Amino acid sequence: MEPQTGHTRAMLVVGNWKMNGDQASNDELLQAIKQYWPHDNRAQAAICPAFVHLEQVARTLKDTPVGWGAQTLNPNDNGAYTGEVSAAMLTDMGCRYVIVGHNERRRLQNESDAQVAQQFAAAQQAGLIPILCVGESTAEREADQTLMVIRRQLTAVTAVVGSEAVASAVVAYEPIWAVGTGKTATPEEVEVVHKYIRQEFGALGNRLPILYGGSVKPDNAANLFAKADIDGALLGGASLKANDFLAICRRAHEAR
Ligand code: PEP
Repeated sequence: MEPQTGHTRAMLVVGNWKMNGDQASNDELLQAIKQYWPHDNRAQAAICPAFVHLEQVARTLKDTPVGWGAQTLNPNDNGAYTGEVSAAMLTDMGCRYVIVGHNERRRLQNESDAQVAQQFAAAQQAGLIPILCVGESTAEREADQTLMVIRRQLTAVTAVVGSEAVASAVVAYEPIWAVGTGKTATPEEVEVVHKYIRQEFGALGNRLPILYGGSVKPDNAANLFAKADIDGALLGGASLKANDFLAICRRAHEAR
């Protein structure tokens, strides 16, 4: 979708519901999103529920500009992979996006850089827009390794699919120490990393949407979105409260 203003990149707000919700609470959230959305279309938004809730999200949001996606995928086409979900299954559910390399998957499911690259490739090949998460731990930041870690995580993917493929997807910078902790990186700290990521892609970097994720709330979103290289947010906690999610979407609308 083309940006609605003179800015080169549209803002994007993505809600990662993680392993939360049931049909009743989801419906409440989705109805609130649906009611708000037609009023303003300058920013894009998407919801990434648990696999079992994709059908409900797809059915409820189908006539709105709000997209949906999954939180992970298996890179294989099909076969004996009990409990797994393929890229084709996600496109079949109307998904536009899929998150890959979220730090909770990297840490809790031991997903390696190489596996993340395979997931990215499979997603893009199936027509999905991968949202590639990168970010450093507290120890890595304290050891001044932030940019090195980001570079390693990006290079693992560009080595498999090429820089152009990543530049046509979405990158989410999510410092692990800020995710779900209530501790947000400052807009200045985020901007340094986003500029670095953009520069890594040379001229292609201008079209790459780079989201920030890590305890974004209605009261810190405007300052983050005021930075030229912050193109929106990946939200965990705030995406589970309609008022917070919509307030952050409004800040995104106002930013461009
Ligand atoms: C996330 O899990 O991607 C995230 C950013 O979570 P939170 O907003 O809760 O920090």
